[in-house]
Amino acid sequence: MCSISHHHSIFCILPPDILANIARNGTAEQREAAIQALSLDATFRTQRLTYNLLGGPAGRQDFSGAAPTVQRTIYDAGHTQALPGKVVRNEGGAPVADVAVNEAYDGLGATFDFYLNAYQRNSIDNAGLPLDASVHFGQKYNNAFWNGQQMVFGDGDGVIFSRFTISLDVIGHELTHGVTGSEVNLTYQGQSGALNESISDVFGSLVKQFKLSQTADKADWLIGAGLLAPGISGVALRSMKAPGTAFNDKLLGKDPQPAIMKNFVHTSQDNGGVHTNSGIPNHAFFLFATAIGGHAWEKAGQIWYDTICDKALSQSASFAAFAARTAAHAGQRYGSASTEQKAVIDAWKQVGVKISAMATAAAS
Ligand SMILES: [Zn+2]
Repeated sequence: MCSISHHHSIFCILPPDILANIARNGTAEQREAAIQALSLDATFRTQRLTYNLLGGPAGRQDFSGAAPTVQRTIYDAGHTQALPGKVVRNEGGAPVADVAVNEAYDGLGATFDFYLNAYQRNSIDNAGLPLDASVHFGQKYNNAFWNGQQMVFGDGDGVIFSRFTISLDVIGHELTHGVTGSEVNLTYQGQSGALNESISDVFGSLVKQFKLSQTADKADWLIGAGLLAPGISGVALRSMKAPGTAFNDKLLGKDPQPAIMKNFVHTSQDNGGVHTNSGIPNHAFFLFATAIGGHAWEKAGQIWYDTICDKALSQSASFAAFAARTAAHAGQRYGSASTEQKAVIDAWKQVGVKISAMATAAAS
């Protein structure tokens, strides 16, 4: 599957259960493609692990001191699985004829701009990491992922999924795995894994909202809008506004996300349902951001950002532990018993995550 060895992860936008549903419900051809994607993802995990054992990336460029600028390189994998492929667009280069190349280029740029302008963060690692992406990976490959070094996009099969560069929030989601990895690095299992997924959905959606200058009440709060091919019954991969309602399709199955703790899904699949139970913290963020109003990245996003950069947050944080830190940071930024702090505590309460008064007080 996508992701997980003990130390190194491949983060895919599609969880294995969706691919498994396609394998179960699809035509022979679709089944073949889904099984291939599933096994390919497993292969990557091994390659990445090997790569890390060989010493990881050769010396990163140090941009500290210089004015932060984005440094993008887009590659074409040429429908092979060899990464990164051949360079097709460099930083500052003019748009090319290939729409996937331009979408990848623009999406990386929008994500860089978002982190820089909203939180003064200099790229994924806050040290000016150049942003690389490969498009046209594999044959009709139904996924996109961040492998710890770069973004990789499949073309989709055109029947169930469109090209994976199409959704800006998907690009923001994947790159945010890099941000989380360089800050709290939440363990990709169980509740901490669902938080890791949720943080990627939160900032993925905020990248899009920032790009569109949308206020919280105008945003669609969807992850992967436009990604499902015409004819598939659904609007996106996930909905933060109404978890569990993004799709209901004979091939994909039904969106399994819960919105509240009472419906928490206990499973051994997908690292303990990391793409499923992320619906709960996703919905808490949505409730908080819409209660506060205005641009969601300004207050709600800032509090979430403060929380993932908080060295006191454990890598194995539970929802409740994470929630307590968000309340603490709301108190630090906006004051104890401020509207913002009350709203964040109330949002968590609505999804069934209780923050003890002691935790909030002790932390703020
Ligand atoms: Zn993810």
